[in-house]
Amino acid sequence: EEGSYDIEDLKLKDAQRVKLVKELLRKLILNKDEIQRVGEAFKKEMANALDEKSSSLQMENTYIPELPDGTEKGKYLALDLGGTNFRVLLLELARGEILREEFKFYHISDEARLGCGIELFDYLAECVKDFMGLEGIPLDAKMPMGFTFSFPMKQHSLHSAELVTWTKSFNCPSVVGRDVVKLLQQSLLKHGMENIEVLCILNDTTGTLVEGARLDKKTRIGMILGTGSNAAFLERAERVHHWEGERHNEKNVIIDIEWGAFGDKGSIDFIRTEYDKEVDNGSLLKRSFTFEKYISGKYLGEVCRVVLKDLCDKRLLFTKASKDLFPAPWKFGTDNVSHIEEDAITGSNTSTIKVLDKFNYKFNVDYDEDDIKVIQYAAALVSYRAALLVSICTAVLLNRMKEKDVTIAVDGSVYKHHPRLKRWVKQLIKELAPEKEFHLMLAEDGSGKGAGLVSAIAERINARNAA
Ligand code: BGC
Ligand code: MG
Repeated sequence: EEGSYDIEDLKLKDAQRVKLVKELLRKLILNKDEIQRVGEAFKKEMANALDEKSSSLQMENTYIPELPDGTEKGKYLALDLGGTNFRVLLLELARGEILREEFKFYHISDEARLGCGIELFDYLAECVKDFMGLEGIPLDAKMPMGFTFSFPMKQHSLHSAELVTWTKSFNCPSVVGRDVVKLLQQSLLKHGMENIEVLCILNDTTGTLVEGARLDKKTRIGMILGTGSNAAFLERAERVHHWEGERHNEKNVIIDIEWGAFGDKGSIDFIRTEYDKEVDNGSLLKRSFTFEKYISGKYLGEVCRVVLKDLCDKRLLFTKASKDLFPAPWKFGTDNVSHIEEDAITGSNTSTIKVLDKFNYKFNVDYDEDDIKVIQYAAALVSYRAALLVSICTAVLLNRMKEKDVTIAVDGSVYKHHPRLKRWVKQLIKELAPEKEFHLMLAEDGSGKGAGLVSAIAERINARNAA
């Protein structure tokens, strides 16, 4: 028996083709039992991680024990590294509001993203130097800085963290296991900025949670559905055993789940298809970040591509077209999936045709309307599976909180641009956490704004703990 599938049934002229396509793609559909098992595995691995038992989840203590309280003030530099672009920011806060935000994007070359790492941090420092020049800030100015570093880390304090593994499109192996705040401070020093002090290091989900809490006091979860995917939430401090340094009677603390790694120890292998294995095999970091490869923007396009490839190989798609037209591995981005899905909203084929145009497929020559329907069906199944998996984990999180009414702050390209994923996620969470009232709120630029807010919180905590 299958879960509630809110997608159109496949209808084609040839009934046999319908049967074959549906049989082939059935493995992308999770049944009720599998949905429950995924939820149970997630719940168990969260608890295991907090109890310091074996788990694919890190449940990292961020050492941030509180959310904004409306007193945040000051001028902060911030770095946002982890997505497609790198940014340097200047944030000015007063009375818990963001008065001013200046930023500049910098491109990170493949050499820096895939090199020895020292190059990468030196480049970050060069960007900061450029930005300080543009803002008219003297290089030797005393400036506090927040560092949004959206990769899994082992945190030792608010301002110290080792990289656990790279994800997405970064891979500088020599940085793994190193304290990235130290690397950054060293590079800043080398470039003449010895008075910049990195007050805090945070993940983009933490930034999103904190920025979300500024906008809506009920926010307890921050989530990213973008190039990568992850969530952070406010946990009761008594449940968190790993705590380096002194405790100060903290009631709560933000936990960075790192759910992208969920399943890395095999706990959800029962949903893994041949398609997922193929995507993993072709990925930059194999056998790592299993869950992320089902749900995030770096991978959804590729999942869809390998599904379509299999349909072609089985002569269920593009039987009239030259094989040369078919996109090469990783050349079918997730934006295409979103575009194809737009046709499900408008009930037309125009967006799908536009996508196929880009790959030089000619309508009525290389493909016909039934091909379009097969493609739309595949894109819908891949998208729905992602929405479902995210919803299962979010529902587990909600169910673990004592609050009945929780706002979830979300950001990321997939969340923003996929035309119906939001709607599915909302409906599925409702079904999976029926006792909860929740609200999905777009909290844009939490990775930037959050760095400023967390810096201000860090100053407040440091002052309090020193007193
Ligand atoms: C990283 C997380 C991050 C997420 C969203 C994942 O690949 O491991 O730390 O929060 O991407 O950017
Ligand atoms: Mg971001």
